[in-house]
Amino acid sequence: MKGPSTLAALAIAAASPLAALPPGFPVTGAHQIAVRCDEELEQRRKMLANMERRAGPGRILDEFNALAIRTGGFDDPLSVLQNAAPDEETRSAAQACLEKLVPFATELFQSPRLYARVEALKATDPQDQSYRRLLIENFEDTGATLPADKRGQVKAIEDELNTLSLQFQQNLNEVSTTVALSPAEVEGLSEDWRNARKRDAGGNYLVSLDYPTYGPFMESALNADARRRVWMAFQNRAADTNLALLDRALALRSELAQVYGFPDFATFSLRRKMAGSPQAVADFLLSVKSAVDEVEARELEELRQEKASLAGLAPADVRLERWDVSFLQQRIKRNRFHVDQEALRRYFPTDASIGFVMRVAEKLYGIRFVRRDVAVWHPDVRYYEVLEQGAKGEPGALIGGIYLDLFPREGKFTHAAAFGVRNGSVLTAQHPIKALLCNLNSKGLNQSELETLTHEFGHALHGVLSKTRYADQSGTAVRLDFVEAPSQMFEEWARREQSLRVLAEVCPQCPALGSEQLEQLAAARKFGMGVQYARQWLYASYDLALHSGAPRSALAVWEQMEGASRLGHVPGTMFPASLGHIMGGYEAGLYSYMWSQVLALDMLSAFHGDLLDAKVGRRYRHIILESGGSRPPQELVEEFLGRKPNSDAFYAEITGRR
Ligand SMILES: [Zn+2]
Repeated sequence: MKGPSTLAALAIAAASPLAALPPGFPVTGAHQIAVRCDEELEQRRKMLANMERRAGPGRILDEFNALAIRTGGFDDPLSVLQNAAPDEETRSAAQACLEKLVPFATELFQSPRLYARVEALKATDPQDQSYRRLLIENFEDTGATLPADKRGQVKAIEDELNTLSLQFQQNLNEVSTTVALSPAEVEGLSEDWRNARKRDAGGNYLVSLDYPTYGPFMESALNADARRRVWMAFQNRAADTNLALLDRALALRSELAQVYGFPDFATFSLRRKMAGSPQAVADFLLSVKSAVDEVEARELEELRQEKASLAGLAPADVRLERWDVSFLQQRIKRNRFHVDQEALRRYFPTDASIGFVMRVAEKLYGIRFVRRDVAVWHPDVRYYEVLEQGAKGEPGALIGGIYLDLFPREGKFTHAAAFGVRNGSVLTAQHPIKALLCNLNSKGLNQSELETLTHEFGHALHGVLSKTRYADQSGTAVRLDFVEAPSQMFEEWARREQSLRVLAEVCPQCPALGSEQLEQLAAARKFGMGVQYARQWLYASYDLALHSGAPRSALAVWEQMEGASRLGHVPGTMFPASLGHIMGGYEAGLYSYMWSQVLALDMLSAFHGDLLDAKVGRRYRHIILESGGSRPPQELVEEFLGRKPNSDAFYAEITGRR
């Protein structure tokens, strides 16, 4: 997933199922989902009962793999439909079914008989040993080793937590808030932007909160009060429903940790990550803070001066507000570096940009993308097969598939993420499939949207180029604080002149930026690093605080911590209600974005400045991407780099020295 945005924090079709199913999808419409759901649960329970009946380890890992393929092959596509189906009926049916299937995961990993079979297995080769270890951890963390009464308590907690997470995401997806603004209040916005908005009977523009609408508005709207109103609405997405869900989750996570005898959820959760402990994360965050603190202060002072000169006042007489930040940053970028985010869209047409990331991946990893005309859940969605590249560059053997669902629509997932559709497994010759759900501008991309596309594509490649024996360790199924490294590393290809020149290969008629313009683009990107990383630091510190010690009100902790930041807390805003990350797998893990980036930027050094070096690309594919979660990340990075990783490149990046 793309990290929480640092800006301000960041057609209904028929409900009938498609005639044919999209590749990897066992069901589509609401009716099919409802019919298949009970049967699916029953089949899983039968598989589980059969596995429990067998004695001794036998082929337990193969059995688990078969079960994982069955459950993932149903739940993952369902999760895509919950977040992307065009009709509300299907989204709700998918959510209801996922809620119904939730208890199975705890039933499976609380089975003492299965635990005993896995325990008894003498695994000899590294992939088997690694999968066995993962299963043991799952059993331990789901309560298989606890006494029966505590096992029941864990089951109730886990089941409720999973349901809360589904509800939180759904509430966020269904936000349909708009802010009505007069033509004078949208002054500063491009004609394209204005033409794309709906109007009410009085001629007011209805400003929705999806990224392509919200981002440019906050960067370009001249009217400060209009920016304030839109920003407030964005901060309060799902506030009426989600804060209560988050508080409940915090209480449950704390209870869960205590059942296992850990002081808090952070301690319980971090022992399974690269970081290992809350202290290690706190130390890391402290060094981030001290690196970016002054940079942030300097940048904010520049913004205040810009605001003052715009208003014809002395800097001491103006107050910098949160809804000023993007706007003033863009003004400085335009004036100082001649970078206009809206003008960039002409150079990065969306289709050409998609072709660009694919061509880069083809060159680096020796693969080919071929678009296939298959059934999809919405006309915007495209499907590509990923194939090996033959000796003459022709498409060869099938590797996997990627769906692209890139533009916003009502009821869709509001952020940017690579969803799984099907995990790969060498054991059963199953090809992996990924789906990118993003909210990009369909006409052309700005700098950050191009980075978002390459970022999510990096996740998709991690999933699709995986060659693990077991589906549970496929591609992105790595330790959470490593999962962002391949995607963050791939962002670099959207920044360097050498790689950006590849765009001309897929779009000869596209206008190209000159070297000087690209240099200015790079310089403009550096301006704002202090503000950006100070914000990332706040998110990560907030997340760690929420999951350390006794549970406290999520909003109260936020008000206090954001209140201590340079720009302060704006009363009446309830941002944690839309911080989907800490209800969607990044709980006690938001530091992962910066932690992974240390490794991402260090791995980049292996290219020695030549981002199109296919030899390094092939090695990266083989060591990092193909291994997925079957080996410890530290070991993979060391093998790829031929040395221990270090954080030099990361600190150079976040202080703008790179
Ligand atoms: Zn990501």
